[in-house]
Amino acid sequence: MSEQKKVTRIGVLSSGGDAPGMNAAIRAVVRTGLYHGLEMFGIMRGYSGMIEDDIVEMESRSVANIIQRGGTVLKTARSKEFFQPEGRKKAYANLKKRGINGLVIVGGDGSFRGALKFSQEFDIPCIGLPGTIDKDIAGTDFTIGFDTAVNTAVEAIDKIRDTADAHDRLFIIEVMGRDAGYIALHSGIATGAEHILIPERKTDIEYVISSLQEKEKRKKLVNMIVVAEGDDFGGAEEVNKIIKERIPAADTRICILGHIQRGGSPTCLDRLVASRMGYHAVESLMKGRYNVMVGVMNNKMCYTPLEKAVKAKQTISDEWMRIVKILSS
Ligand code: ADP
Repeated sequence: MSEQKKVTRIGVLSSGGDAPGMNAAIRAVVRTGLYHGLEMFGIMRGYSGMIEDDIVEMESRSVANIIQRGGTVLKTARSKEFFQPEGRKKAYANLKKRGINGLVIVGGDGSFRGALKFSQEFDIPCIGLPGTIDKDIAGTDFTIGFDTAVNTAVEAIDKIRDTADAHDRLFIIEVMGRDAGYIALHSGIATGAEHILIPERKTDIEYVISSLQEKEKRKKLVNMIVVAEGDDFGGAEEVNKIIKERIPAADTRICILGHIQRGGSPTCLDRLVASRMGYHAVESLMKGRYNVMVGVMNNKMCYTPLEKAVKAKQTISDEWMRIVKILSS
């Protein structure tokens, strides 16, 4: 925090990986700013729009009817140019030209690294809002998009269980999560999966095999294995390969849920979290608290310096793993 000149014109952008609920955050930022009499701007396609001067003034109407929509009306992108000082200089010149003197960036840890660099080079205060389906950012219990993604996975896995049950099949379902297993853990527990394989835990494939063999003896033939794409053993294909080698009689199928997990109308929780964070982003800029990520921890707003708002493998407690084991037996 420091004494700085007043923020009067704020630019908002979504950047990096998309997540459902980004629209709700953009809406909250724009409307809170307008409420305080600030001028609000939407920056298209993340940092690319900043560099290419693709910036539009936003009114209250500009964000009408978007809270329930997935994706992001401002579009999102990854910008190679923004990694270069020349690119960031261009972006700054475009903001300066319009008198934009505050930024809200909805994105993941990569976008925050970009914002940190930018704020260190130029006098533009920045606020980050955690928008990622992976829930793997330090300094917040919630990230915008996670709840929707996990509910999409639950809905899909429930449907798969119906067909698995009809045919007595073993399904191996791969969900998103290159570095974090939260989608796998939450959706696996909520759908009663027999095994959940996540990057945070070393996968004991021998245990999986022996448990399947034991279940086969008991004629429990319907089994669901939920695996995060970044599991240390590999994704669904690798898990299937080894199961087929070791239990040739197993009737297995693979389902990779893929990008459906990123889309769709945000859940109530994601809309609430995004609205709350968006509101506090503007309030925070106005109070001179900036270059931080706005998060929520223990139901309280938290402000984490951008340099600390990094990808974090939050520990997945032994309690959850024990619950999985006991409830799936
Ligand atoms: P996410 O925000 O979802 O983690 P990325 O890691 O792709 O997504 O980051 C989004 C964008 O942020 C990048 O395309 C780039 O423009 C910018 N960015 C990321 N890291 C840096 C960095 N170290 N310096 C400058 N810009 C960066």
